Amino acid sequence: MAIDQLTTCKTCSKEVAKSASTCPHCGAKLKMSVIGKVLILLGVFFVISIMYLFLAIPVNIKSISRALLLRPRRP
Ligand SMILES: [Zn+2]
Repeated sequence: MAIDQLTTCKTCSKEVAKSASTCPHCGAKLKMSVIGKVLILLGVFFVISIMYLFLAIPVNIKSISRALLLRPRRP
């Protein structure tokens, strides 16, 4: 038995698997480690920045190409 894989629920004081995000006995959310929180924050930030890049680059290309197309027309 992998006893060290278990942690104690702070709400109901029963043994819960460390991999579980919620307590199967009382349904309380288990306290997440600081590293886990930081990793999730970094992941969310990474996804948002990637999405922003994918959304922003086509707009920038359009505006740049417009600016390039408009400039030679002017005498
Ligand atoms: Zn519990």
